[in-house]
Formats: sequence, structure tokens, C-alpha cells
Amino acid sequence: MSKNTVLITGGAGYIGSHTAVQLITQGSKVIVLDNLCNSNAEVLNRIHSITGIRPEFVKGDILDRGCLDKMFAKYSIDSVIHFAGLKAVGESTQIPLAYYQNNVTGTLVLCEAMAAAGVKTLVFSSSATVYGEDAPVPYIETMPRGKTSNPYGTSKAMVEQLLTDLCKSDPEWSVALLRYFNPIGAHPSGLIGEDPKGIPNNLMPFISQVAVGKRKELSIFGNDYPTDDGTCERDYLHVMDLADGHLAALGCLSDGGVHIYNLGTGSGTSVLEMVNSFQDVTGVEVPYSFAPRREGDLPAFWADASKAEKELGWKASRTLDEMMADTWNWQSKNPNGYDD
Ligand code: NAD
Ligand code: UDP
Repeated sequence: MSKNTVLITGGAGYIGSHTAVQLITQGSKVIVLDNLCNSNAEVLNRIHSITGIRPEFVKGDILDRGCLDKMFAKYSIDSVIHFAGLKAVGESTQIPLAYYQNNVTGTLVLCEAMAAAGVKTLVFSSSATVYGEDAPVPYIETMPRGKTSNPYGTSKAMVEQLLTDLCKSDPEWSVALLRYFNPIGAHPSGLIGEDPKGIPNNLMPFISQVAVGKRKELSIFGNDYPTDDGTCERDYLHVMDLADGHLAALGCLSDGGVHIYNLGTGSGTSVLEMVNSFQDVTGVEVPYSFAPRREGDLPAFWADASKAEKELGWKASRTLDEMMADTWNWQSKNPNGYDD
């Protein structure tokens, strides 16, 4: 990738920090904008330790137009990777307005500031959740967006539409909508990783926090699904592969318009298989018990990931064993995340 300057909104977060490392390693200049509502400034020291370079950091909010304007005036930004947003599905049903404000209005304000600064290349963090509740698996980009079941998912679908309309209105905009499946794992150095605040909502950090002794046991939500072992199946991909997918998308965004890509491995793994794989790779036991189904969970979904491979030359290459080993390397070295 040529030497260029990339603004990463939400760059102190889980996926953003891994993407920052990969961009810096490839020679890009990185500006991180984050309000730290779900992250810790220590991540910047860790990025420095890994890459030898400290990204420029702006503590600010995507909703703050004045802050955005100042930033675009100060740095000569070529493109934006937009991770900033709220992401807890359950919480989004409790405080929907905060989700629409941050995720939808925040993106709108960001796009207005970008347009004013003449920056019209954007990579957006979307989600497999936009396929909705009734889509057949595997999910493929040619399917229409489906009926979302919570404000978080709806906010992602709304932003996809907003960005599609923007591109239709002005052919100078080039936008990639990256639909992530289930990112897990950590940088192999163990210096950066996923650091959820409070009780983890997601499976992988819950497993690793049980393993490190922070939580007593894992509750597996449902063992009566119509899958091989009765537990839900998801398409887990290594966060380093996901980060590389952003670089691949950025490298191909020159011809205008909206481009949609699934970023997943193309196969599903059940919750029980995840627990067994973690135990096999790390040698650490993860006590678990079966609990009732979690409301809103779908039995099984995974990506058709062939479009990203064909058009971006991107394919998830890291194995499930690497995902487990890297998760454990991070968690065991940082039992309390960045607060150690
Ligand atoms: P994260 O919470 O670790 O990172 C998001 C970052 O954005 C945080 O550092 C937070 O402080 C920051 N932020 C939030 N609102 C902001 C605002 N208004 N202004 C400035 N900064 C703000 O989450 P993540 O897992 O790295 O996810 C990144 C993006 O990818 C999110 O948009 C999320 O919805 C999306 N996504 C994540 C997953 C997943 O499983 N992790 C799956 C699909 C999509
Ligand atoms: N899961 C679980 N126990 C947990 C957290 C998650 O059994 O403590 C299950 C959940 O029901 C789902 C799978 O693990 O089937 C992945 O959940 P996660 O929240 O990580 O991803 P998502 O549901 O968003 O795909």
C-alpha cells in the first residue's frame, strides 16, 4: 500500500487497534479518533510497542463536528476507516436512542465533515446481523438486507442505506460496507486484544475470562438448536485477518460507489466446539453448564466469503487453533485487560 494517511474512528477499540497496527506496519500514517467510551488510552502505548510508531491520537467524538473539522484541517487525511460506535446488542434494546445517536447520527456528522474536507473514501464496520432473522445460510452479499431484531442491528442497516444513498448522489464517494462475522483472537504479541468492560456479552472473552479465573463458569445458551451438537454455530475469524480485510478493501476503493463484502471464513463452529478447541489448545479447563437460549440468537450462520477473495484478494487464513492460542496469550498476560 502506498504511503497515505488514514483516519481510524474508534481506533482505540478492539478491531480498530489491530487495524491500526497492520496499517502502520504497511507504511500508512494513522490518526486515531476515539472518545474512549469503550476503550483505554493504554492501547496507544501498546501499538507503539508493536510497531515502533505511536499513532496520532485525537480524544474526541464523531458527533462533535467542530472537533472533526479541526482534525481534517490539521491532518491531510486521504481516507477513513469508521469503527466508532456502540455495539452491545442487549444494551441497544435498553437505550435505543443512544445507539441511533452514536451509530447513525455519528456517521452522518462524520460524512458531512468528510464531504466538507473533500475526503470521500470510507470503509464502514457493518455486521452480518444486517442479513436479518430469516436469511438462509451461507449469507451472500447479493441477498437483500433482512429484518433486524434489535436497535444495534437496525442502526447498522440504516447506516448502510445512508452510505448507499450518499454514493448515489455523488460519484466521487467510494465506500466499502464490510459485514463482519465473529471476530476473535488477538495480536500474536499478546500486547493488544479484546478488553470488554464488565461482564462480557460475547462468547470468546467469556471463555477466556473463565479460563483465567475471573468468572466461575460459562453458561452455554441453549443445547436444543437444530445443529449437530445442539449449540449455536457462528463463523469465527481471527481479528488479524479481519484487520487485513480493511487494508485490502482500502486498496481497492478507487472507482466510486458502494462495495459490499462479507468478512468471514466461510464455515461455522458450534459453541461446544469452541470450548473444546480452547481447552485442547491451551490445556486449561473451562467449566460450563447449559442455560436457556438467549433471546434473539439465531441457530447458525456463516459467510459466503468468495466475493472478498475474488475482488479483494482477501481470504481468512489463520486457523481456529491460532485464534484460541492468541486469545489465551493476550488474556493470560493481561488478566485485567489494559487496567493491569
Ligand atoms: P469497540 O467498542 O472495541 O471499539 C469501538 C470504539 O469506538 C471504542 O474504542 C469506543 O470508545 C469508540 N467510540 C464509540 N462511540 C464513539 C463516538 N461517538 N466517538 C468516538 N469514538 C467512539 O468495538 P469493536 O469490537 O472494535 O467494533 C468496532 C466496530 O465494528 C463497531 O462499529 C462494531 O459495531 C462493529 N462490529 C463489531 C463486531 C464484533 O464482534 N466485535 C461485529 C460486527 C461489527
Ligand atoms: N454464547 C454462550 N454463552 C455466552 C456468550 C455467548 O453460549 O456467555 C453463545 C451465543 O448464544 C451464540 C454464540 O455463543 O450462540 C456467539 O455469541 P456472541 O455473542 O459471541 O456472538 P453473536 O451472537 O453476536 O453472533
